[in-house]
Amino acid sequence: MPNEYIPNVTGTDIWYYFICKRELWLMIRKIAPDQEDENVDIGRFLHEYYSKRGKKEVDIGSGKIDRIKKVGNQLVVQEIKKTSRYRESSYFQLLFYLYELKKMGMEAKGELLFVEEKKKEVVALTEKNEEQLKKVIKEIQRYARMPVPPSPKKIKFCTKCAYREYCWAGEE
Ligand code: SF4
Repeated sequence: MPNEYIPNVTGTDIWYYFICKRELWLMIRKIAPDQEDENVDIGRFLHEYYSKRGKKEVDIGSGKIDRIKKVGNQLVVQEIKKTSRYRESSYFQLLFYLYELKKMGMEAKGELLFVEEKKKEVVALTEKNEEQLKKVIKEIQRYARMPVPPSPKKIKFCTKCAYREYCWAGEE
């Protein structure tokens, strides 16, 4: 990819940015993770479970919003996660969707739902967090332009990561 390459940042990129920069790079470069990985299966299971219960994803081009509803005159975007363990990723991913909708001329508020903990967090786009988000988007574009991935760093998420064989083969 040429150095001036600027990708369209997606909600998934935002999520991985806060988990692991190497994974972010691998995802952006579409390097396929291990499809047999059980964590990929859990993701699929959650997706199918909510689809069967009538949950409809809404494609806004730069990502798929889990659910969008109207409460009075207010649009509410819901992002559904298993737990709040990766709350920062989930929070910025939701902010990103609110920002994308704002660019389309739609004002919405957000709700983060953590199903296992039965918790809900209301999220609003403000001047301050929009600035933070824009910095994150620029950083993701900077990572995307890197010719090689960042080195692997052992973090808790590695044990759940579909790339763990790729990063740590022979070390586990
Ligand atoms: S295994 Fe760890 S270092 Fe490698 S991409 Fe996944 S989270 Fe990142």
